[in-house]
Amino acid sequence: MSSPQALHDMVRNLHLPRVATERMWIHCPYCGAKHSIYDNTASSSGVFLLCYRGCKKEFELVIEDGKQVLKK
Ligand SMILES: [Zn+2]
Repeated sequence: MSSPQALHDMVRNLHLPRVATERMWIHCPYCGAKHSIYDNTASSSGVFLLCYRGCKKEFELVIEDGKQVLKK
């Protein structure tokens, strides 16, 4: 019989995205304008983008666990 922690880890691993199943927009954290497309297997930090459809500010693209983290 597995311990609850081992079971928890197993379930967590099952949910790690391995296949691109979903595509989402990168949004500017300042004005919410759409920028580019990423999918749920992406991960990113230290990538800086310019908001070209909205406020024109520079923002860092941070993607963790396949989701954009809106960091200003
Ligand atoms: Zn913007």
